[in-house]
Amino acid sequence: MSAPPHEGGRTVSVLIPLALPGPYDYDLPPGMAAEEGSFVVVPLGPREVLGVIWGEATGEIDARRLKPVSEVIEDVPPMPAVLRRFIDWVAGYTLNPRGSVLRLAIRAPGALEPARTRIAYQLTNTRPARMTSARERVVATASDGFLRTVRELAEEAGVSDGVVRGLVEAETLVPVELPADAPFEDPDPDAQGLELSPEQAEAAGCLVERVREGRFAPLLLDGVTGSGKTEVYFEAVAEAMRQGHQALVLVPEIALTAQFLDRFERRFGCRPAEWHSELSTRERRRVWRGVAEGRVKAVIGARSALFLPFPDLGLIVIDEEHESAFKQEEGVTYHARDMGVVRASLGSFPVILSSATPSLESAVNAEQGRYERLVLTGRHGDAQLPRIAAIDMRTHPPERGRWLSPVLVQEMVRTLEAGEQSMLFLNRRGYAPLTLCRSCGHRIQCPDCSAWLVEHRFRRELRCHHCGYTAPVPKACPSCGAEDSLVACGPGVERIAEEVSERFPDARVALVSSDNLRGPQSHVDVFSAIEEREIDIVIGTQVMAKGHHFPWLTLVGVVDADLGLENGDLRAGERTFQLLQQVAGRAGRAERAGRVFLQSYMPEHGVMRALVSGDRDAFLEREAEMRERMELPPYGRLVGVVVSSHDGGLAQRVAREMARRVPAADHVSVLGPAPAPIALLRGRTRLRFLVKAGRGVNVQAFMNAWLADFKVPNAARISVDIDPYSFL
Ligand code: ADP
Ligand code: ZN
Repeated sequence: MSAPPHEGGRTVSVLIPLALPGPYDYDLPPGMAAEEGSFVVVPLGPREVLGVIWGEATGEIDARRLKPVSEVIEDVPPMPAVLRRFIDWVAGYTLNPRGSVLRLAIRAPGALEPARTRIAYQLTNTRPARMTSARERVVATASDGFLRTVRELAEEAGVSDGVVRGLVEAETLVPVELPADAPFEDPDPDAQGLELSPEQAEAAGCLVERVREGRFAPLLLDGVTGSGKTEVYFEAVAEAMRQGHQALVLVPEIALTAQFLDRFERRFGCRPAEWHSELSTRERRRVWRGVAEGRVKAVIGARSALFLPFPDLGLIVIDEEHESAFKQEEGVTYHARDMGVVRASLGSFPVILSSATPSLESAVNAEQGRYERLVLTGRHGDAQLPRIAAIDMRTHPPERGRWLSPVLVQEMVRTLEAGEQSMLFLNRRGYAPLTLCRSCGHRIQCPDCSAWLVEHRFRRELRCHHCGYTAPVPKACPSCGAEDSLVACGPGVERIAEEVSERFPDARVALVSSDNLRGPQSHVDVFSAIEEREIDIVIGTQVMAKGHHFPWLTLVGVVDADLGLENGDLRAGERTFQLLQQVAGRAGRAERAGRVFLQSYMPEHGVMRALVSGDRDAFLEREAEMRERMELPPYGRLVGVVVSSHDGGLAQRVAREMARRVPAADHVSVLGPAPAPIALLRGRTRLRFLVKAGRGVNVQAFMNAWLADFKVPNAARISVDIDPYSFL
């Protein structure tokens, strides 16, 4: 619908990055130049807010009553049309307000303001009256003629900022104005890459071909860990850049490590631009602007990088495509793998999904011919796939109060004696997942969640892994008051580290979990220590599971292989298989063969058998059959709905009212409401519905029909999760 022309000017619709239902109309005063996608400032109630011109005015409000656009931000290129279409698509699919999705795309504070300049310093011939050795170092550092800020000079010379300022006062250094953002280096697609094996070269050739064709093509790059998938997809990245396009590699946040960036640098001669949650505000701004202006050619990023304003994206790679970390669970819930495929389709370019353990969704898509599958069968060079064995914990149990079976301990001894490294994997942070009173049986719970508090012994506290609540470990039982009656039940990685230190007092032990690592940089030290063989035994959570390459690591012990199977969600088996397969892939990546031991109380379980036999495809086939029989994804569709409120009674009433309003529809059943497995979270009572629908059902339309005119009380919240991955 086009709006009646407004006298003298034009009317436009402006989308504002807030949870509003859609764009609002504004008047674009005469003389103000703007186009679709232009960033603008508009009045909203008493405030002035940022927005994006989304298109023609909707005409819902009489043009004469419209408020005028206050300002067009001319310093920034308009948001590309394809990104605007993508935002609309994601909003429609995930049933989120478009403004909320837009917010994902402009989450770079200050990105729209003109770049502020910085002051850098240049060396002169003047020398201070008094020369100290610290001052000498600064002069020596600056003598290469490069411009540096005070901070940079101080850091490089290893002196305090004060020393540098002293030299500025003495006019040994003079200020020069620099543009605020350091420029980006261009990766060189033709820099010397590794020589590819025939199998790798064939896969790379095919990817390059698809990039050249320049149309939508979903590709599944399926190869065992160590087969060189990264090297292979780098060739596609190179080709995209040769064609003058930008390229995006999405990795699970946790895998965005210095080691990965180094590999990019070895292939392309410089670091890529990074995008992840640990970036400083200044770096976010710099990367966002660099991408928007086309100065950034390649981005390696976590899932939200999908929403960067690429004017000319020509390739997306989704590394470790099976990772559930690609599912955003808070706020706008979306799956970055699925939305990555959509983004590629809207932009008409290829998307590469890479994995050693493809998700069932992608495997089925390849099976049915929707995705093209490229297979790498061998590990690079002489590296062999590790041998995987299960240790039956019923017949080889650990001693009382211990967690490692004598079989595994024996293997660790052998590994140590051979001068090689072992890794023990347990996907559970902290010391113990449960603290129990021996006298009365009381279990210490989070006051705000239906969850036990996890003991973190290094920090001497109990911590809720759902809401972050912490409390000191009490001396007496909070329920019966008995002293010294609290016992830690079950192991976390800290407890395994304790056992290892007791068993191997001379070994050099490292504990690696997200509690003692923050951000890509902090991984560097511990990972390089492992690489340099300064560590004998590593105990790690899933931060250790991802693509690191440690040539001397030959033994992997999985402390509790059954752990992931406990929760009954539909992907429990698949996820456990993927995770443990990946962990196993850490062993024996170089010439030395790797051995993997799975401690399990149910070695006869299908997942354990598949891991031991290495028959991934048979496992996937069985899983697929089961899902097909039960009409579960990808053969059916699910929507998770959570009703929550601080007022438990209200949550109940809202859920009951919703249950009464479920519309009738073919091939759709609605289960619930039932208390969620985490029935209390951050003080909110939670009830769940699960919508189960046939594959062909338009679940968005069903949800809209259900919820469209349902008035949710202010004190309650309904969150809708299309294609849920979490059922908690
Ligand atoms: P994947 O991603 O499949 O697990 P990587 O790409 O990480 O495999 O490769 C595993 C290791 O083998 C890396 O250290 C990589 O540098 C090395 N590698 C792979 N292909 C080659 C090659 N053609 N020449 C030399 N080294 C290679
Ligand atoms: Zn809590």
